[in-house]
Amino acid sequence: MKLEAIENEIKTCSKCSLAKTRKFPVPGEGDVETGIMLIGLGPGYHENLEGRPFVGAAGKFLDELLALAGLGRAAVYITNVIKCYLPDNTPTEDQITTCGSYLERQIECIKPRTIFTLGNVATAYIFQKFGLKLQSMGKVHGEIFQISNLLLQAKIISMYHPAAALYNPKMKETLRKDWEKIKILHLVERSR
Ligand code: URA
Repeated sequence: MKLEAIENEIKTCSKCSLAKTRKFPVPGEGDVETGIMLIGLGPGYHENLEGRPFVGAAGKFLDELLALAGLGRAAVYITNVIKCYLPDNTPTEDQITTCGSYLERQIECIKPRTIFTLGNVATAYIFQKFGLKLQSMGKVHGEIFQISNLLLQAKIISMYHPAAALYNPKMKETLRKDWEKIKILHLVERSR
């Protein structure tokens, strides 16, 4: 199935109660050809009003982090585990399971070579789906896990969620260092 068809399904989804309170669903956006996919938690206030991922304060910081990695928005596809406004940022297990099926179909369709999970929820979801042992963000952040199955061969890289650093300068530095490391990785891969 084409990505656009999945995105259109998301735009008219009414599978859970978030459909009643959202303004615009946020399916995701960006370039799929580069094979780099970013997965956040779910739309916040600003994303809900625009129907686009990471357009608020966390998104601004994400742009800075992407630049540190030598990447721009245009070079990645960004989506979330949850596609509709999450007023309190805490999805239920049911919401994760229901909405997660869209994410899985997006992954199957895009076949990314690198998946960045941003924060706990996306990391737990992807680790569980690909049979990786779940460990705390403190242990896995910035590390690279290679997964390989019949459908997908990809690197999984978990990062702290950019919002976690907004009011915490120490965390900002950790995130900056993690994303800077990615740039070095590109250089090594390109020179092989
Ligand atoms: N936080 C997320 O996890 N996703 C967004 O799209 C915006 C903020």
